Amino acid sequence: MKIENYFKPKDLNEFFKMTQGHDHWKVVAGGTFVSRQKYVKVHTLIDIQELGFDYINDNGDLHIGSMVTFTEFIETNNDYANGTLLSSFAKCGPITVRNIATIGGNIMGGYYWNDTTPVLLFLEAKLVFLKESSEILEINVEDFINDRAKYKNMLLKEIILPEKYRNERVFFNRFARTESDIPTSIFLGGIVNGKNKIVIGASTVKPFAIISEDEITVEEIKAKAKEIHIMNDLRGSNEYKLKLINAQYKEYKETKDEN
Ligand SMILES: Cc1cc2nc3c(=O)[nH]c(=O)nc-3n(C[C@H](O)[C@H](O)[C@H](O)COP(=O)(O)OP(=O)(O)OC[C@H]3O[C@@H](n4cnc5c(N)ncnc54)[C@H](O)[C@@H]3O)c2cc1C
Repeated sequence: MKIENYFKPKDLNEFFKMTQGHDHWKVVAGGTFVSRQKYVKVHTLIDIQELGFDYINDNGDLHIGSMVTFTEFIETNNDYANGTLLSSFAKCGPITVRNIATIGGNIMGGYYWNDTTPVLLFLEAKLVFLKESSEILEINVEDFINDRAKYKNMLLKEIILPEKYRNERVFFNRFARTESDIPTSIFLGGIVNGKNKIVIGASTVKPFAIISEDEITVEEIKAKAKEIHIMNDLRGSNEYKLKLINAQYKEYKETKDEN
């Protein structure tokens, strides 16, 4: 990446003027991920700090602006879904990263092991994008996970968490080799609208959900993980990750049976 232009638009009109007519630009939010290796053809960076996406509106649905950093969210002590969102965001990298990394940047960064998409998938979050001339596109996070390329050059404005999960109890387990390491396996479970729901992330090429009226078995989860594709990488072999899912499932079942 050889940067020839660095722009900082003051409003959306300026933003869309700067992006019109060419593809070789990238948004910079916290800047912890935009790197030379990733975007070989990019010559223009557009800093979106002044577009006003650094808000949290917590009336009914929870609206989180894409420019909110992990630390900013954590400092609100928000208890949405009985603190599930807070528990997840509090683990997202070391504190030095959480202080500058934005939630929107994490979602758009697109690494398969990321912390945010599994929890957002469980909580049925919506993502709000702005297209040219400020046209609004609201999509389910599930559609984003399944077809990321479609949203590559769109501007993420905010994340919406539905009110219905506000007081839900969710089992959340994130396993990483060390406290501040990236996750190896993320497991979320609970009962939503009378149905069992489990979400697995970080160990597979993308997070996935299983929803069933019947008890979900660990065999079903493992079969789905294999179908989606379990990553064999520096964090461990796919066999190791299946064992982790097994252990997380066991813990989930124990917690569920106690309640
Ligand atoms: C040491 C270290 C440890 C880390 N550990 C973890 C971890 O444990 N778990 C984890 O999940 N992540 C981890 N990360 C990744 C980190 O969370 C992300 O780098 C960060 O969230 C990206 O946010 P950012 O604001 O810095 O985005 P940037 O680097 O500015 O941007 C990232 C990407 O998103 C795009 N983008 C950003 N904002 C928008 C927007 N509003 N609309 C459209 N596109 C946008 C950019 O163009 C770029 O492609 C770690 C990173 C580091 C450096």
